[in-house]
Amino acid sequence: MQAFNWFLILYTGSALVGVSALWFFFDRSDKRSFESSRRQKIFHCVRCGHLYSVKKRDVSNGEQCPECEYKNFELSF
Ligand SMILES: [Zn+2]
Repeated sequence: MQAFNWFLILYTGSALVGVSALWFFFDRSDKRSFESSRRQKIFHCVRCGHLYSVKKRDVSNGEQCPECEYKNFELSF
């Protein structure tokens, strides 16, 4: 009976460890993908109406439109 109890404890413990490891891994990868999409800067071209985004950090000087090369400034919400 004692051996069976130890088996039960180890079995439940390893399942818990496995589930928390999976949760930790997926939570981190989820956060990383969210952060990368959050850092995108969105631009709307006032000349041709094209909508585009860049992942640059500094866009204070504006960014050129890939369609007509007009320099637009970042949309702010
Ligand atoms: Zn344009």
